[in-house]
Amino acid sequence: MNQGKKPDEIYCQSCGNLISEKAVMCPKCGFMAKSIPRTVTIGDRINPMAIISLITGIVSLPCGWLWGAGIVFAIPAIILGILDLRNINKCKSSSRGKGFDIAGIVCGGLSIFSFIIVIVLFLIGISSGY
Ligand SMILES: [Zn+2]
Repeated sequence: MNQGKKPDEIYCQSCGNLISEKAVMCPKCGFMAKSIPRTVTIGDRINPMAIISLITGIVSLPCGWLWGAGIVFAIPAIILGILDLRNINKCKSSSRGKGFDIAGIVCGGLSIFSFIIVIVLFLIGISSGY
């Protein structure tokens, strides 16, 4: 048993062929012996959703007083921020983006809040007859 197997050799998980331990791919069947760990790439990178959430959140703030322009940016900022926070909880995206998401949600929320104030002031203005 295992007579042909050297210490630095492993069996291919696909076809059982003996391959070098260092081999990335089985030369016989092409099976990827070493699957590149995905957690490394996910763990390091900030999800683009977090960055977009932050940018749209910040942009929405100065636009908040311009008749609803802030809403266009605030809504995606909040939605993307929440989606990315959910991905972080599921370990699907990097926790490094968490601050981005929260900042995006807070900025977006402030913009919507200021938008509501503008609408209320507008309605008060109409009812006052100005
Ligand atoms: Zn193989």
